[in-house]
Amino acid sequence: MKIYNTLTGKKEDFVPIQENQVNMYVCGPTVYNLLHVGNMRCYVVFDTVRRYLEYKGYKVTMVQNFTDVDDKIIQRSLEENISASDVADKYIKEAFIDADALKICRADHYPRVTGEMDGIITMISQLIKAGYAYVSDGHVFFDAHKSEKYGKLSKKNIDNLLAGARVVVNDQKRSPVDFVLWKPNKPGEPYWESPWGNGRPGWHIECSVMAKKYLDHVDIHGGGEDLIFPHHENEIAQSEALQAEPFAKYWMHNGPLTSGHKKMSKSLGNFFTLREVAEKFPHEVIRFFLLSGHYRMPMEYSEALLESSQKGLERINNCWALLIALGTLDEITEEEKAWLKEAKNFKTNFDARMDNDFNTADAVAIVFELVKFANIRINGNVVSRPFTNKLRELLEQLCGLLGLEIGLTLGRSISVKRSANFGFHTDIKTENTMPFTHEIDGEIHGIVTSRESAKEDFDTSDIEAKIARRQEARKNKDWATADKIRDDLAAQGIVLEDTPTGVRWTQK
Ligand code: AMP
Ligand code: ZN
Repeated sequence: MKIYNTLTGKKEDFVPIQENQVNMYVCGPTVYNLLHVGNMRCYVVFDTVRRYLEYKGYKVTMVQNFTDVDDKIIQRSLEENISASDVADKYIKEAFIDADALKICRADHYPRVTGEMDGIITMISQLIKAGYAYVSDGHVFFDAHKSEKYGKLSKKNIDNLLAGARVVVNDQKRSPVDFVLWKPNKPGEPYWESPWGNGRPGWHIECSVMAKKYLDHVDIHGGGEDLIFPHHENEIAQSEALQAEPFAKYWMHNGPLTSGHKKMSKSLGNFFTLREVAEKFPHEVIRFFLLSGHYRMPMEYSEALLESSQKGLERINNCWALLIALGTLDEITEEEKAWLKEAKNFKTNFDARMDNDFNTADAVAIVFELVKFANIRINGNVVSRPFTNKLRELLEQLCGLLGLEIGLTLGRSISVKRSANFGFHTDIKTENTMPFTHEIDGEIHGIVTSRESAKEDFDTSDIEAKIARRQEARKNKDWATADKIRDDLAAQGIVLEDTPTGVRWTQK
């Protein structure tokens, strides 16, 4: 398995520090607002990474923090006339509702800054003692010049940073590149007592402290790419000032979800909350959309793209419902056994894409290939129940690895009745969304639109027209034309079989 490591700028073989155990730390949100879909990209990406690692047999311990004290939270508390901790409580609760709706597996720990003050004060004291930090007028700053490899993650160097820095903005700092570890509170702001006076911590120190407390070591440290500098650079500087081993082995960063081609952010105002988007699209569609691009690439938010994700997911769901509905033969045929053997390649290919730095965009493409493969095999053929079951299980497995529960209704519930022989009919029952349940024998309830969707994968009209022309030629004893049509179709991968009831065609 390979992971792109921002630290080295390369895809590297993934070898966790401790065999079979993966410790992950992902920077969480600052909670002063409902989360927007950009934040959710980060959640969905690292949830998918975690699911895949678990599928590969690793035990994963995951930590994600909540920044629950910060200028914006304080500002919000003044606006809403409630305490900063009430603001944080409220939006943490909302964040869980959103994460659950997107099927994000819960992390093992969700530490909050306000619950970790002792550890933060201890670490700042250690940094001062070790000569990496200094006190200045109620503040504590990290002395970036003391950090030998400062800039190694973001590929920035101190001289360039200094050249680009504005003329001294903060006269408490020795250098513009130094960053704050502790700062005094303004009147009316929440504060904690410390050896340097009342105040609260800077942003970066929290993650160094929490990662160390909840994880013995960090295999994967994640977050959005906007955090590379200064947040993650500073985390490295602080943590590695006090330990010889690297703070984290692999640094993974998701690209931005953009809106108007600018990073979606609360401060720019170009954001859509998950709640807003979920009024128009089901959560599974939003998750599917967020996984349809490569996680490191920027991705533009658009309703048109969400609509096409919705169509894509409907196609997957339709195929799944067909697999549930079809399969009248009890015994698997030799031909189907061969097809199942072929279908194993989808699993191998899916894994290969995911092993290659979690390329969900390509993995999704494999799922569509499987859908196409299944639709072609089941469309117009009498198939066996063991065959449809196996294909359905494979489809469920691949989608499950992406955190997509197929079989959930997309806005409507339809009952599918299996008829005695080949085929089925659909019957729209209700317009309400309801979770899928199914019974194999008898009536089956689930999402399906129509049988036509199976044909979407394959334009059969051309084939059928050719078959009709071939029949005509045969009737006229024009064997040369008939054979030519058969050969042309064979070149397209279409095999014809003349049966007593007519011509049957299959795709090779
Ligand atoms: P914040 O609350 O802004 O600190 O964001 C919490 C997490 O979401 C961080 O890992 C961010 O990098 C990530 N994030 C924020 N905005 C976006 C975005 N537009 N696209 C992708 N990830 C984002
Ligand atoms: Zn962080």
